[in-house]
Amino acid sequence: MSEFDLIIENAIVVTADADNRVIEKGGVTVSNGRIAHVLDQNALEAMKDRAGRVVDGSGHILMPGLINTHCHAGDSLFRGLVENLPLEAWLQTVWKAEAAILDPETTRLGSVVGFAEQLLSGVTTVMDMFWYPRQTVEAARMVGLRVATGGIFFDPPGMDKKTAETRPNDAERFIADFAEADDVFVATMPHGAYTVSPDNLRLAKDIAEAHGALYHVHAAETRAEQADVQNRYGRSVIRHLDHLGLLDERTVLAHCVHLDDEEIDILARTGASAVHNPVSNLKLGSGIARVPDLLDAGVRVTLGTDGAISGNDLDMWLALRLAAMLHKGATMDAEAVTTAQALAMATRDGATALQAGDRIGTLEPGKFADMVLVDVQRAHAVPLFEPVTHLVYSTNKSDIAHVFLAGEQVVRDGQLTRLDLAGPIAEVQAMAPQIAASIA
Ligand SMILES: [Zn+2]
Repeated sequence: MSEFDLIIENAIVVTADADNRVIEKGGVTVSNGRIAHVLDQNALEAMKDRAGRVVDGSGHILMPGLINTHCHAGDSLFRGLVENLPLEAWLQTVWKAEAAILDPETTRLGSVVGFAEQLLSGVTTVMDMFWYPRQTVEAARMVGLRVATGGIFFDPPGMDKKTAETRPNDAERFIADFAEADDVFVATMPHGAYTVSPDNLRLAKDIAEAHGALYHVHAAETRAEQADVQNRYGRSVIRHLDHLGLLDERTVLAHCVHLDDEEIDILARTGASAVHNPVSNLKLGSGIARVPDLLDAGVRVTLGTDGAISGNDLDMWLALRLAAMLHKGATMDAEAVTTAQALAMATRDGATALQAGDRIGTLEPGKFADMVLVDVQRAHAVPLFEPVTHLVYSTNKSDIAHVFLAGEQVVRDGQLTRLDLAGPIAEVQAMAPQIAASIA
């Protein structure tokens, strides 16, 4: 037995740690799925003969796997189906399609495709809200990434043919079954303040709190949602959630587009995380989140793709680039959102939001060896002066060469290693006429 299962050497190392440490030439040692050392090449040279496998990272950036903190991977079945509608009208059509098409098997299929797209693009952890969380976990394991998920709460009849009465039990059982898993971060996932009553929002939080689980909810995505919640409860969405005692470090709020100054302060005070979903917010015409103000106030901002039904693909690199670019244009301030801040949203801060900052999100000793090798030898990638600038503004998802999950190579030369994707892709293609007919 070798001392190290794996050494990756000769790479440009972007640790994404709190000091934004970059090593011009070096790599990592991996033992039992965890990073043992992050070292420059000179120090690594002396250790190479103690490794079972040495991977040459020349011409590549080695970085932590990306963390997508808001997704609905199963909705990949509906890519491009519902277009040019604002969120509320769009959701009615989406729900019609979901109700007609989704069951545990189709959810697993859509999620496999959605997770495959993401793992192939270097995402190793996804926070995913969907109707059949057990199939979400199955799909994540088939593909080879970590998932934060759990029972959905939704008061109207759900697309899973369940009623609000059975959801708390389902959510509890899910947490009990997966709480100990390394690759699942358990959560309860109420859909939103406009689809879940105050009592049920609170019940979902009670269940999460009893088990130290995460709490994930859509919040302040559109003006119409704000008006709806204001009319019903006499408070804005964030004030409503705060009033119900739902905001804390374990709460992850998707979108947070429409916030006033006081609501930003509430997020900062409570420690709740705000997931920025620039692609979805732009395409659905929801608006532009006040990310520079959120960051200035000390709110933890993380990054998400939302589903492929709103953004048409699940591209964290596009989200990353927009996170750094969009707010410069929106505020006419070229210094708004630095590349380091944008990268942190997609890595370290995402991990902290999932209460997993001790295990994932950076390249540091003791953490899971969830790592990506990005090819930086392409025409759009040369020359390279500053690797973080390069990752944020020049890298495409097709540049991801190799991905490791806890040291296991789950993507090799741009191909999944656990699963042959040809079958799932053919299945989805065969379903397309039925999916199209579901909203006819
Ligand atoms: Zn969403």
